[in-house]
Amino acid sequence: MLFYDAQALGMKLPLTGGCSCSAVRYRCDAEPIVMFRCHCRDCQRATGTGAACVVYVPLTAFHLTQGSLQHHSTPSLDGSDNKRGFCAACGSPLTGGETDDSIGLHAASLDDPSIFRSSMDIHMSDAQSWDVVDPAVPKHDLYPSG
Ligand SMILES: [Zn+2]
Ligand SMILES: [Zn+2]
Repeated sequence: MLFYDAQALGMKLPLTGGCSCSAVRYRCDAEPIVMFRCHCRDCQRATGTGAACVVYVPLTAFHLTQGSLQHHSTPSLDGSDNKRGFCAACGSPLTGGETDDSIGLHAASLDDPSIFRSSMDIHMSDAQSWDVVDPAVPKHDLYPSG
């Protein structure tokens, strides 16, 4: 399920992006699986704001075209680690939620962040009162079920 209209958003492949200092650049050859905002405290700390805006893509479509990612992990509620990638030179957060088959790109790291449309807000249990959320977007206390 896509939850968004790639054509209406003017989404053009490949998606490209990178960090603030340009030491790390990436390319993604596939349309996102899903896009969402995560309000958990770990995402808040990792992004320095109210929620991570995540563009979730197939791992096989994600390619670093310059530099390399440093990683750190934060614990997930399901007991696994959330593998987060960032630029070691400038600290920009670039990726998160990396698994064997998918990886989350931080929307603001895209060269064209305007293609981001959240399909859901997750971890609303940690959401900050000052972080404005769109009432029209489905909400989940933690993760979506199923
Ligand atoms: Zn950088
Ligand atoms: Zn999160």
